[in-house]
Amino acid sequence: MAQSILVTGGAGYIGSHTVRMLTDVGQKIVVLDNMVYGHPEAVVSPEVMLVRGEMADEELVERLFQEHAPQAVVHFAAYCYVGESVQQPGKYYRNNTAAPLTVLDAMRRHGCDRFIFSSTCATYGNPEYVPMDEQHPQNPINPYGRSKLMLERILRDYEHAHGIRSVFLRYFNACGCSLDGVLGEDHDPETHLIPLALRAVSGERDKLTVFGTDYDTPDGTCIRDYIHVLDLADAHVKALEYLNGGGQTTACNLGTGDGTSVKQIIGLAEEVTGQPVPVEYGPRRPGDPPRLVAAAQKAKDVLGWEAHYGARDAVETAWNWMSQPHGGRYGQTGPAAGPA
Ligand code: UDP
Repeated sequence: MAQSILVTGGAGYIGSHTVRMLTDVGQKIVVLDNMVYGHPEAVVSPEVMLVRGEMADEELVERLFQEHAPQAVVHFAAYCYVGESVQQPGKYYRNNTAAPLTVLDAMRRHGCDRFIFSSTCATYGNPEYVPMDEQHPQNPINPYGRSKLMLERILRDYEHAHGIRSVFLRYFNACGCSLDGVLGEDHDPETHLIPLALRAVSGERDKLTVFGTDYDTPDGTCIRDYIHVLDLADAHVKALEYLNGGGQTTACNLGTGDGTSVKQIIGLAEEVTGQPVPVEYGPRRPGDPPRLVAAAQKAKDVLGWEAHYGARDAVETAWNWMSQPHGGRYGQTGPAAGPA
């Protein structure tokens, strides 16, 4: 039976892919997004109601609960620039930690008891062992990670006090785009490796700077677990099924379990595009651990989820997105970035 679901941040990168997938399985979606980083064009299904506004706006949130009576909330709305979080911690704690309380209190008042939370491997901080499972100590090393960890803690308290059950989905490196090139990654500023490598190929950027080549890894560059946005979206659908089936609050890593180095991503970008990636080798970026890889067995055991896409799929779908007439930018109709 179709559920009414409130999706915060549903016009953002991962949110928009998830909204599309939830709509495809017949759910009735209301998106609340302040459009600071979201794109109205990313909400592609006409049956989705898109509301522009703040999560912290009590009157607006109350009205949404009265009008749509959501049975679950899928919560993406957050700021996620690590460097900015160090410079402006207040912005992160206000938006990522405090603002969701308005939504949680509306849930409590209206008897809505299911919450799916976009958490992050940044809540673990520096890895003490790899691959990292959900038992890994959580000692985040920046305000971004702490702002997300605090909401995990708050959600545990809300389960205890008010019976609101949550799934914390701890994403590793989100990447990739929809297979049809309709939805994709359009961040401003862009900081992520795959789009930056591809925009160096297309000539939109001069070059890609590789942050460090002297790490204790086989090729000297950092290793990450690149998880495709379509797999992330699928995990949200499965997390909702888990809560609908009476599941209690739990945390699941979302990763492939495979590590890919920066140099390997550059190699994939060259294979996929058939062109060289102009590269400059630079110093390490502060705060980057050498290796971050998920142990993702729990998501399989608890949610019945596993990753179906790999790093090559991420590069291919990202290049396809950038090769559309919009050039991988929402609201643009200019020439494509590269050959399709
Ligand atoms: N990276 C890089 N050059 C860039 C951007 C990223 O070498 O211009 C590296 C970064 O040091 C990390 C990996 O690529 O090892 C993934 O970085 P990204 O910012 O995409 O994600 P993060 O791991 O920081 O969440």
